[in-house]
Amino acid sequence: MTDGRPRSPGRGTRLDPWFDSYAERAHGMRASEIRALFAVASRPEVVSLAGGMPFIAGLPMGTIAEATERLLRERGAQALQYGSGQGEPELREPIVEVMDLEGVEAHPDDVVVTTGSQQALDIVTRIFVDPGDVVIAEAPSYVGALGVFRSYQADVVHVPMDEGGLIPEALEEALLAMRAARRRVKFIYTVPNFHNPAGVSLAAERRAAVVEVAARYGVLILEDNPYGLLGFDGETTPALQGLNPDGVVYLGSFSKTFAPGYRVGWAVAPHAVRERLVLAAESSILCPSMMSQLSIATYLQTCDWRGQIKIYRETYRERRDAMLSALAEFLPDCSWTVPEGGFYTWVTFPDGLDAKDMLPRAVTARVAYVPGTAFYADGQGSGYARLSYCYPTPERIREGVRRLAGVVTGERELVEMFGTGGGGRIRGVLNPKPNQE
Ligand code: PMP
Repeated sequence: MTDGRPRSPGRGTRLDPWFDSYAERAHGMRASEIRALFAVASRPEVVSLAGGMPFIAGLPMGTIAEATERLLRERGAQALQYGSGQGEPELREPIVEVMDLEGVEAHPDDVVVTTGSQQALDIVTRIFVDPGDVVIAEAPSYVGALGVFRSYQADVVHVPMDEGGLIPEALEEALLAMRAARRRVKFIYTVPNFHNPAGVSLAAERRAAVVEVAARYGVLILEDNPYGLLGFDGETTPALQGLNPDGVVYLGSFSKTFAPGYRVGWAVAPHAVRERLVLAAESSILCPSMMSQLSIATYLQTCDWRGQIKIYRETYRERRDAMLSALAEFLPDCSWTVPEGGFYTWVTFPDGLDAKDMLPRAVTARVAYVPGTAFYADGQGSGYARLSYCYPTPERIREGVRRLAGVVTGERELVEMFGTGGGGRIRGVLNPKPNQE
């Protein structure tokens, strides 16, 4: 202090005097492309094929309201109190039942309840990753996970997928390359079911191979599975965790099968890892919300949650069908993946089109999507987009794709006239046959 007024340390900038004070890891943080979009995409005149918001209007709100009122009246002192850092046993028990549907055999003591699976991604990364460590992730990968990996200064190495999900041979190639380069690989991050954003699932016959390769290289798998119960045929595919419980950290969530507003997810991890996860969770939030945990425990005990998941599946299936038939009708020059569950399809635009450049024109035409670049750590993906069908009605989906087709046609004319450098294809990335339905 020279003139008696407090000063910021370092030079800072005019907009942010504290700029130079941030930790190294904070400099890598930036708003996801999705967040920047949310403000525009949520205007009523825009058809948003961008966000991944579940169809909450399908929930029995009256029943949930009554259960919540009863919970507060009868057990309010517990619901509004602090709880255990590992999570409430009353919820950990039914979580075990939910996971049983996907071949995860766990004990309630193995479960750590988290504030959404997003927090689980954060604490897993926190306990494993030092700056410069490698995380292997699918190409493309969930944008929220990439944000976590970036904030802990991990180097993300993408491994290609095809319509059968992660390619085991490509995974081994990447692990071998990292070994040769003497890089430390901390874990393999995968979303095996109804992938966000790719819309594909890891083929049942590949699962053992993925687990085997990871074990052979001594690398942990982080299995993120929020969509596994949302398969349109009602079938589930056994989790990777069930194939090697000691080599997998498994993440689940109630966000897509019930409601994201409660912010409840969970992790199942080998014993020693679990202990550290609890310590990491306690240091960030002390304990997960008791109100949310008891609300969900009550819901699981008193409501037909399996029936609710069936309603969700049927709704999303209808919307997926609307999306696929609109794509076939309006965008015959594009190709896309055919999701068998979940919320998303991954669209490949005609050569030369750059989805990020095109986005402002799409929003002007009142349709929003997420450009493929959001789902890569290294700026690839400009020729692709994620379209989600979970939130708009079938009619709105059709209208949104119709609007998008107008934008694509205009963009192609521009490209033909002036050319462009964007939209390059990526080796091995999902690039199915044109016009596939
Ligand atoms: N993983 C994946 C693959 C997701 O799609 C999402 C939500 N979009 C999350 C994790 C985080 O979900 P939540 O924190 O709501 O459980």
